[in-house]
Amino acid sequence: MDKFYNYIDGAWVEGESYTENINPSNTADVIGEYAQASREQAEAAISAANAAAHGWARSGIQARFDALDYIGTQLLARKEELGELLSREEGKTRAEGIGEVARAGQIFKFFAGETLRPGGEALPSTRPGMGVELTREPVGVIGMITPWNFPIAIPAWKIAPALAHGNCVVFKPAGLVPGSAWALADIIAQAGLPKGVFNLVMGSGRVVGDAIVNSEGIDGISFTGSVPTGRDILAKAAARGAKVQLEMGGKNPLVVLDDANLDIAVDCALQGAFFSTGQRCTASSRLIVTEGIHDQFVAALREATAKLRVGDALKGETQIGPVVDKGQLDSNMRYVEQAVAEGGTLACGGELLDGDGFYMSPALITNTTPDMTINREEVFGPVASVVKVKDYKEALRVANDCEFGLSAGICTTSLEYATDFKRNAEAGMVMVNLPTAGVDYHVPFGGRKGSSYGSREQGAYAREFYTTVKTAYTRSA
Ligand code: NAD
Repeated sequence: MDKFYNYIDGAWVEGESYTENINPSNTADVIGEYAQASREQAEAAISAANAAAHGWARSGIQARFDALDYIGTQLLARKEELGELLSREEGKTRAEGIGEVARAGQIFKFFAGETLRPGGEALPSTRPGMGVELTREPVGVIGMITPWNFPIAIPAWKIAPALAHGNCVVFKPAGLVPGSAWALADIIAQAGLPKGVFNLVMGSGRVVGDAIVNSEGIDGISFTGSVPTGRDILAKAAARGAKVQLEMGGKNPLVVLDDANLDIAVDCALQGAFFSTGQRCTASSRLIVTEGIHDQFVAALREATAKLRVGDALKGETQIGPVVDKGQLDSNMRYVEQAVAEGGTLACGGELLDGDGFYMSPALITNTTPDMTINREEVFGPVASVVKVKDYKEALRVANDCEFGLSAGICTTSLEYATDFKRNAEAGMVMVNLPTAGVDYHVPFGGRKGSSYGSREQGAYAREFYTTVKTAYTRSA
């Protein structure tokens, strides 16, 4: 059995203990044993990052460009191999895994470019004989804590801007998917960065995550994961004045209006709700449908959903892979049962399937109302519910009646409704005639209300979190 170590202060370090990385498509397949860092090792990584911070902050933009460009090139060149590893450990299909690795590569390439666009302004002063300069400086050492559902893209969209803007990194991936994180760290370790600039510490949230959150040596925390963990981190980090950015859950609405193109609407719902096994924070979990198209839409979506091929993530014919683990599978099934108990109709799916992994058929639940649990809590699985509404006005009200606000979609051929929805949907991202999931890498990503806290990730906006502004005055005469 292969063993994979942590990367601390420029060296691969044995763990205090190891966990097995299990393939959710076939639980007999163990991918490897991954080191679990102790609290002391996490603290050693934080110290190493602090020791490297001054030098890296002054490293110059060419060195940063070269390192990020190298990492991006490697990811793109190895996207098939690493995409398979990703599918094997997380359960999304091989095509989705390869797509995610390619995206991680593109993100590193984008932020390589960002190193050459640091910005800055020179302004006249309001006082004669003086000038003012605005520059951006690194924040320092950033702790990154990531979830299991995008094991390489989410780490990439945190690590790349952090390094581009001159910060050092202590990265803790999710316990369920250390393989992709380790492979990314292995590439970063060969990118020519000074020791201590990048550190990988695999392990539990309770030990390694807690050490990062509570360390005075961490200047900023970028977290993606569930709401309870995010709120806990925010309280602890705020108490010691650390900068924090949180990306959390979603309960994303897809509105389908009477005038929608039916094929587009069904495709958006199918992709948004069920692809990647519904394990996306941007998944379309609430389908809000006006009464004129409701029955037609439900019939077509039900037929398409029932045809989806669920199976081993690495098999070519598979469209929907397994759920990530037993705990998540049990939770999904409980949500389906509860939805039916509260009055919903199971239109199709929602059954456990035979196999060597954690398989269920995608569940479509109709006849639901906005107050039901299924329309209020994030399931994070292949489960979507339909709410029938009278008209656009009610659809918008139901869409916004939610504690989350990550992504919101509308299917319509009306410019008037599309425009109104873009303006009034209470979400960080709005999609017109597109699934709520599926975003570009060069523009900001994030939500509002209970979904996010702090400044946006990705694109040029990422610099808001990874830099701090300095205003310098000079007397010139
Ligand atoms: P999680 O909150 O259980 O874990 C996320 C990370 O936090 C893991 O690395 C975990 O080890 C760590 N952690 C757990 N407890 C901790 C603690 N006390 N202190 C420090 N770290 C701790 O979430 P998950 O189950 O891995 O991921 C699923 C969730 O992530 C869903 O709610 C989903 O919506 C969300 N998510 C959000 C986005 C987004 O951008 N909005 C993207 C992907 C996933």
